[in-house]
Amino acid sequence: MYAWLTPVWQPLLQGVRERHLGHGLLLKGMAGLGKRELAAELATALLCQHTSNAPCGMCHACELNAAGSHSDLHVVGREGRSIGIDAIRELSRIMSESARLGHGKVAIIERAELMTEAAANALLKTLEEPAGEATLILVSSRPERLLPTLLSRCQQWLVPLPDTDTALAWLNEQGVTATPAALSVNQGSPLQTLEYLQGGADDKRLALLAELASLAETPTHLARVQTGLLEQPVHLVWVQLLLQDALQTALGVNAPLKLDDCRAQSERLARLGAMALHELNSELLALRRSLQPGQGRPMNAGLQLSQWLRRLQRALTHS
Ligand SMILES: [Zn+2]
Repeated sequence: MYAWLTPVWQPLLQGVRERHLGHGLLLKGMAGLGKRELAAELATALLCQHTSNAPCGMCHACELNAAGSHSDLHVVGREGRSIGIDAIRELSRIMSESARLGHGKVAIIERAELMTEAAANALLKTLEEPAGEATLILVSSRPERLLPTLLSRCQQWLVPLPDTDTALAWLNEQGVTATPAALSVNQGSPLQTLEYLQGGADDKRLALLAELASLAETPTHLARVQTGLLEQPVHLVWVQLLLQDALQTALGVNAPLKLDDCRAQSERLARLGAMALHELNSELLALRRSLQPGQGRPMNAGLQLSQWLRRLQRALTHS
């Protein structure tokens, strides 16, 4: 169990041991916090045969869960781009059968926001008529996309973001050198930051932002910067954070920078002045929106980005 999950895990565990958790639970919070692991641990506790000491780790149910083969636990939503009505009907059927080990049943719906409307409506029926000792655990990083009727029937548990010190300490324990900037570009999520650092993306970010800020001095890097930025949508978020830091510097606001390891770059960009930075920032925001998944990638994304980079380059040259 990740250290930052303790504040939500303790009351959940107490609920299991004292048998006062609802039949429908929603674990919500941003991606990369370990909600899936939390749901699995909660399922183990619910199915444990020693309720007052759950999860005991020693009973048959705990052994089966540790081996990932408990027949009273059903998980959907781990794969695929949506969760359809067939998957939910099958879940409802399984949940209505009696428990094989006689200690309740648990279903987990991961990425619950991917349920189609028909699937969500089918699930609503299961939640309205819970069978016996069945518990349904919904997991979602986009709970605002769930049907309000579904939300209102679930006990909601928010998985909080860890504070910077806790996240950095955990990352260092994993053997990576994490900085507050690396955490910032991953919205504070320790698990995403770990993947990002292990994949070498932090070096890529530093190189890309350094080239971007020196486009006036080395204009020949423009094509390379453009290719680097188009590689992943998140690369534009890096630029956005740098622009925000530059704006803060230009305005003389004395607050910590999001990317404190790119101070030289944000100071260089700050010379453009607040007005120009504001404009560049809103243009970039519009560009990011048009590149979002589901919007259909515009054919001219490369063209739009190169126009934006040329504007930035001209501004830098004249500042
Ligand atoms: Zn047990």
